[in-house]
Amino acid sequence: MTGKSGHIKRYLRTSFFLAHMKPIQLVDLKTQYHKIKPEVDEAIMGILEDSAFIGGEHVRLFTRELEAYLGVKHVIPCANGTDALQIALMAIGCKPGDEVLTPSFTYIATCEVIGLLGLVPVFVEVDADTFTLDVQDAISKITSKTKAIVPVHLYGQCADMDAITDLAAEHNLYIIEDTAQAIGAKYKSKHSDKPESAGCIGHIGTTSFFPSKNLGCYGDGGAIMTNDNTLAAKIRMIANHGQSERYYHDIIGVNSRLDNIQAAVLRIKLRRLDEYEASRQSVAQFYDKAFKDINEIETPVSSPSSSHVYHQYTMKLQGIDRTKLQEHLSDLGIPSNIYYPVPAHLQKGYEEYGYVKGDLQLTESLCEKVLSLPIHTELENDQLNHIVNSIKDFIKK
Ligand SMILES: *Cc1c(COP(=O)(O)O)cnc(C)c1O
Repeated sequence: MTGKSGHIKRYLRTSFFLAHMKPIQLVDLKTQYHKIKPEVDEAIMGILEDSAFIGGEHVRLFTRELEAYLGVKHVIPCANGTDALQIALMAIGCKPGDEVLTPSFTYIATCEVIGLLGLVPVFVEVDADTFTLDVQDAISKITSKTKAIVPVHLYGQCADMDAITDLAAEHNLYIIEDTAQAIGAKYKSKHSDKPESAGCIGHIGTTSFFPSKNLGCYGDGGAIMTNDNTLAAKIRMIANHGQSERYYHDIIGVNSRLDNIQAAVLRIKLRRLDEYEASRQSVAQFYDKAFKDINEIETPVSSPSSSHVYHQYTMKLQGIDRTKLQEHLSDLGIPSNIYYPVPAHLQKGYEEYGYVKGDLQLTESLCEKVLSLPIHTELENDQLNHIVNSIKDFIKK
């Protein structure tokens, strides 16, 4: 569309959409809640009546149900995804000064807990297509002090777990999978005939139930997964004040619990998780199809070994001004976001580890190219059409 009539058509279309359409949000938790409201309200009212707020029946049942869903021996619930990572690192017995490999292209929580425990984060590049840990770069950064590797299943698909498992076996490293963005994703390993759940492949997996995550509660929540009985016992103890039996504290632990109301909400949403993932996947397919012939947009690349549960739909832009595109979209009622504008190795709080601009060039360039579009379980077709048409209009201008 060019010229004056194109402009007018665009204007009319936009006004029509903005007048008739439900407002577009990055995540629409309210509409989702309204679809499960009777069940949620009844469960929460029941808890208020029983006044069993901590350690109640829903926590016990949710734990069993999530174990069954993931196909893992142990799920240990905790207060949030950051605690889950911290407890996992405490459980493998890292000592101050030990090195932990982690991607720099991640949410800060992954790196934060490493620093907090006096360990040294060693920042690794990601693969340019999948945004997950670059195993070759990780290998080149292993030293005699390397104790663990923390792959992040960023945006909703698994890192190259086969290569990571091999590397960890060869160098005697613990694997802690940060699964905060990929709960329910399945990985087809060369070691196993049937697909395994994200977070259940390495020694320990961690996840978050923050409201906007794919399986989100109505407050904070998290969990730790493992198939190792010894680690499970240790993790349970650490999450509960290092307690072996009541008022006997064998190690220094933390206080990190999932509460009963959150567990009740999670039980209801876990039963719908597959359906939720399917609606995210169909949004992703819609975007993929709409942008497939547009040179300025590189749509997400799926790893052949992992399903993708699209916590984010993150495109790479080339040859267009990202800030101007975001402004254009925002003017048309379309939110978008950058995950993440500054990589961990260049964050001010992490200066002590000595990284400078240029140390992880690929990660740094990805941070400048990525843009994430609205993706959630409640997007409607008119909203999706408005989003893709608005992006196409910007590019054609
Ligand atoms: C959300 C998130 C976390 C932290 O989870 P919280 O529950 O907010 O503490 C950790 N890692 C990644 C990759 C995340 O996206």
